Amino acid sequence: MPSTYVQPRYPFRPPSRATEEARLVVVGAGLVGLTAALDLARRGHRVVVLDDDDTVSTGSRAICFAKRTLEIMGRLGLGARFLDKGITWNTGRVFHREREAYSFDLLPEQAHEYPAFVNLQQYHAEQWLVEACEATGRVELRWKHKATGVENRADGARLTVETPDGSYALHAEWLLACDGARSFIREALGLPFTGQVFRDRFLIADVVMNASFPTERWFWFDPPFHPGQSVLLHKQPDGVWRIDFQLGWDADPELEKQPDRVRARVAAMLGPQVPFDLEWVSVYTFRCRRMERFRHGRVFFLGDAAHQVSPFGARGGNGGVQDADNLGWKLAAVLAGEAGEALLDSYDAERIPAADENILNSTRSTDFITPKNEGARAWRDAVLELAHELPMARPFVNSGRLSRPWSGQRLAADAPVLRGNDPDWLLRHIGAGWTLVAREVVPESIAGVTPVLLSDTPRPGALHDHSGLAARRLDLAPGACVLYRPDQAEAARFSAPDIGAIEAARRQVLAA
Ligand SMILES: Cc1cc2nc3c(=O)[nH]c(=O)nc-3n(C[C@H](O)[C@H](O)[C@H](O)COP(=O)(O)OP(=O)(O)OC[C@H]3O[C@@H](n4cnc5c(N)ncnc54)[C@H](O)[C@@H]3O)c2cc1C
Repeated sequence: MPSTYVQPRYPFRPPSRATEEARLVVVGAGLVGLTAALDLARRGHRVVVLDDDDTVSTGSRAICFAKRTLEIMGRLGLGARFLDKGITWNTGRVFHREREAYSFDLLPEQAHEYPAFVNLQQYHAEQWLVEACEATGRVELRWKHKATGVENRADGARLTVETPDGSYALHAEWLLACDGARSFIREALGLPFTGQVFRDRFLIADVVMNASFPTERWFWFDPPFHPGQSVLLHKQPDGVWRIDFQLGWDADPELEKQPDRVRARVAAMLGPQVPFDLEWVSVYTFRCRRMERFRHGRVFFLGDAAHQVSPFGARGGNGGVQDADNLGWKLAAVLAGEAGEALLDSYDAERIPAADENILNSTRSTDFITPKNEGARAWRDAVLELAHELPMARPFVNSGRLSRPWSGQRLAADAPVLRGNDPDWLLRHIGAGWTLVAREVVPESIAGVTPVLLSDTPRPGALHDHSGLAARRLDLAPGACVLYRPDQAEAARFSAPDIGAIEAARRQVLAA
C-alpha cells in the first residue's frame, strides 16, 4: 500500500556495561512514554528511555488530539507543530440513515490558542517528541532495548534488558511503565488489568484521496452505503482520511482486510467517480479496562499500560498524555527534595478517577454504537429519529463523547492577552513551574513561585487583559489571585495576595 509517511529508523546503541543504574527509567517510547520523558527532561532531570522497536508507531492509531493535549504540548514547546501540521476542527455532524440528524460545535467560545481538536497521525506526534527529547540533551533514547525482566524493590526496579548485542541489568530508582496495552511490566509483576471486551469489530481504513468533505467529524448511523452499521469519517493531514466501518462481531477479520473488499466498502460510501488509494487497513475489537492502582511503590503505570478505552471519544492517547502531565512535576518535586514521596500517591488519587471517567464515557458510547440487544437498538433508533426535529433528544445520542480533562480538577483557562503591544496567550505564562496569577495587585516575591500580573489597562511588566476574557475565565476579581501547580491545575485561590497563606497552600499540596 502506498504511504504518505516514511518511518524514521533510529540507531541502535549497544549497552555500555553489564550492570547500570539510572535515576529515572521510562519503558516504552510511545506517545505517553515520550511525553513523560520530555516533561521530566524539561524540568531538569536525566531520563533513560527503553523501547523494543527502532521507530515510531505504525499504521492507524490515534488521530484526534484534544485541546488539553494541545495545551500540554504547547507547554512542552510543540504546540505550534501540532497547529501547523494538524487539521483543526471544532464541528461534528451526526447522520441517521439518509439524512443529517444534527450538528454540534465542541468549542463555541472563541479566543483560545488551541481548538477543540486537531487531527494528526500519531507517528508525526511521536517523531516530534523524539526530536524534542533529543534536543534537551537529557533524554537517552535506547532503541531495540527490550525490557524482559523486572523486579519491584523498595529502592526501585531492577530490569533485565535484551538487545541485539546481548542483555544487561538496569537498576531504576523510579520506573515509568509506558509499554502499552500489553504491558510487559504489568504482566511480569502479576498485576491484574480488568474490564470489558466489546463484542464488535471495526474496520479502520486510512484512505488517500482528494475529497471535498469539510473539516468536520462525520458519524453515520445505519447509512444506505453500510446498512445496519455505523461509519465514522475524519480528515487527517497529507490528504489522508480515516474511515471506521462497524462490522459486527461475526465478521471475519482476515477476510475484511482484503484490499478488494475494503475498496468496495469505500467506493460504496464515496461513489464510483472518486479515486482513492488505501494507505493502511486494520480490523480492531475494543476493550475498556484498567489496573486497580497505577502506583506500585517506585513503579508507575501510565497510558495504555494503566488503562485502555475504545477509540470512540479519542480518550486513549489524550488520557495517557494527561497521566504524564500529572506525574511529571510530582516526580520532579520529589527528586528535587521539595516534596516527600506521599505526594506521589496523589497520582493515583487523581488519575484513577480520570481513567474511570474516560472508561465510563467510552463504554457508554460503545454501548450506544453497538446496542447489546434488540430493545437497546430500538431505543437508540427512536432517539436518533427524534434528534432530527427535537434538540432535547440530541444529548441522548452518543457517537463518542469527545475527550475532556478530568472533571475533578479545575485547570487554568486560556485567553488572549497583550504583552506590551504584542498579542500573546495567558496559558503560555502558566506552567513552567508554580505560578501565581494576580489581578491588579503586584504580589511580593515568593520562593519557588512565578508571579504573573494581569491588568485591565496597559502596565509595565503586566499582561494586559485587553478583552477582559482572562479575568472572566479565571474568575478573578480585582485584587484576587490564584495559585497554579506546574501542570496548570488550580491549587488555591485567594481574595488578596497573602504571602503566608499562599506559601502554606503550596506546602500543603507538596505534602499531600
Ligand atoms: C484505531 C485506533 C484509533 C485510536 N484513535 C485515538 C485517537 O484519535 N485519540 C486518542 O487519544 N487515542 C486514540 N487511540 C489510542 C492511542 O493510540 C493509545 O491510547 C496510545 O497509543 C497509547 O500510548 P502509549 O504510549 O501508552 O502506548 P503505545 O503507543 O502502545 O506505546 C508503547 C511503547 O512501548 C514499547 N514497548 C512495549 N513493550 C516493551 C518492552 N517490553 N520493552 C521496551 N519497550 C516496549 C512499544 O514498542 C511502544 O513504543 C487509538 C487507538 C487505536 C488502535
